[in-house]
Amino acid sequence: MPVELRASRLPLLMRCAGAAYLETAQDSTAELDRANEWGHMVHHWKETGEIRGPNKRTESALRKALNASGIDRLSLWPSGGRHEQAVAVRVDGNREVRSSHDEILGDSRWITGTDDFDWYLLDDSLWIDDLKTGKWYDDPEDPGTNRFPQDVRSPQLRLYALAIATLVNYRGRVNVSLTHWPRLPVERRHSPPVRYWTSYTTEELNDYYAELEALYARIQAGIGGNLSLSPGDHCRFCPARAGCFVAQPIEPSPFQHYRRN
Ligand code: SF4
Repeated sequence: MPVELRASRLPLLMRCAGAAYLETAQDSTAELDRANEWGHMVHHWKETGEIRGPNKRTESALRKALNASGIDRLSLWPSGGRHEQAVAVRVDGNREVRSSHDEILGDSRWITGTDDFDWYLLDDSLWIDDLKTGKWYDDPEDPGTNRFPQDVRSPQLRLYALAIATLVNYRGRVNVSLTHWPRLPVERRHSPPVRYWTSYTTEELNDYYAELEALYARIQAGIGGNLSLSPGDHCRFCPARAGCFVAQPIEPSPFQHYRRN
């Protein structure tokens, strides 16, 4: 069974490899489509400064958000940096990193993804940034904070740090930032983004490469019938949930009535 390993799935796969090889449901809804269209439009604006969306209404919403938030594109992503860099990391024990997905898509020995931005800070240290436009859930128990916070140390961003540092042959500390500019709720869209920072040493990234290879081995074992499923809160986000016999039941969230669509 061909398994496509995308960097964006790593946060779930690191918790449970079963999500890679159990049958998945098509997870397409109108709301998901709108979120994806918004994400594509904002990433295109980040790279070019051009507003080009699926329709005039969505473009107008972005124009309004740019004005209301005062977001400054070039101070967040300075000129000279590289946008939307394809990366592919081979994880079957033969280490290799490529800057293209050509001849790789569908080959489960590789994890593929797209790094949003990379450049160098003033001290010449490498920097990568990931722009997220996912929803902000106000936490009623801790007003002003996000109930499901973005994770700047997520496996996805760590893979980009590993890949870009390898591609540019860089061996110093890699700075990683995550820029969260939520599409919803509207008041957050109309506010400046929040940027989170972390960093990794070369040794940490090498250790992480070994974790990716271990993940690949778990997936191959699962495909061979040696299932090792790890249910938990993350089952909520798993596309294989409907057919998984150990999936953790989803309790109605006590915060549901605070969520805004
Ligand atoms: S539903 Fe949960 S236990 Fe089942 S494959 Fe997905 S993450 Fe793993």
